[in-house]
Amino acid sequence: MLNIGCHLSTSKGFKHMGMEALSIGANTFQFFTRNPRGGKAKAIDPKDVADLLDIMKAHQFAPILAHASYTLNACSKDAHLRKYATEMMADDLVRMEYLPGNLYNFHPGSHVGQGPEAGIEMIAEMLNEILRPEQTTTVLLETMSGKGSEVGRNFEELRAILDKVELTDKMGICLDTCHVFDGGYDLVNDLDGVLNQFDQLIGLHRLKAIHLNDSLNSLASHKDRHAGIGKGNIGLDAIVRIINHPSLHNLPFLLETPNELSGYAEEIKLLREASHIASFSHI
Ligand code: FE
Ligand code: FE
Ligand code: ZN
Repeated sequence: MLNIGCHLSTSKGFKHMGMEALSIGANTFQFFTRNPRGGKAKAIDPKDVADLLDIMKAHQFAPILAHASYTLNACSKDAHLRKYATEMMADDLVRMEYLPGNLYNFHPGSHVGQGPEAGIEMIAEMLNEILRPEQTTTVLLETMSGKGSEVGRNFEELRAILDKVELTDKMGICLDTCHVFDGGYDLVNDLDGVLNQFDQLIGLHRLKAIHLNDSLNSLASHKDRHAGIGKGNIGLDAIVRIINHPSLHNLPFLLETPNELSGYAEEIKLLREASHIASFSHI
């Protein structure tokens, strides 16, 4: 079965997200660990989390994906902001242990003029301070489009971060289709080539989740504006090839398309129908 879901609001708690996912035909989802612009996270209600874990087990959910706050910048020029990022992620990872064995994704950071090498150094430094051998959460670096001074704009930069992290078995990658397309990787005409490049530089075993988005902009535009499935320059055919690719089809696919819940339900239905894996499972 295709593992697919979308970004959901955390405001009504964990159990509510599980029920909402079921109501739109999803068997995974993404959520913010706290306000995307930062700030204090709500206290965890263990009963609420236990209810979600029951739903996930009963309905064979794929791993779910927490997304860190956008303000978290591991490679800010300002040491105070780096300290804030470190504390925020460390706190998020403590909370993630209520949901054992799932995924936590973050934007590597913006080097704000210090250069990618300095940024990469600081990001790895933060991860080495935070990661714990006993944690069950896998921390994912998101592939970025390269707008502004984003670090992680190509596979080489992500590889360079991983090379400097000590507990690399706690690390993985979340590939955002809009971001890599805008970053210059031609998912439309050369999906195999892009995945080969990923495999050679990073290793496909490190790929743990896909942000499945179309793009409003063109290849290598370095813009990062998401479009609905089939409503952008990646297009439905290429997206269907992505969900059915043998190297990808077991991964959780998370939609971050501009949609209300009903729009997500439609995209999930469309993609389930286009998934070869779904039809095989009926035989
Ligand atoms: Fe993201
Ligand atoms: Fe994304
Ligand atoms: Zn984006």
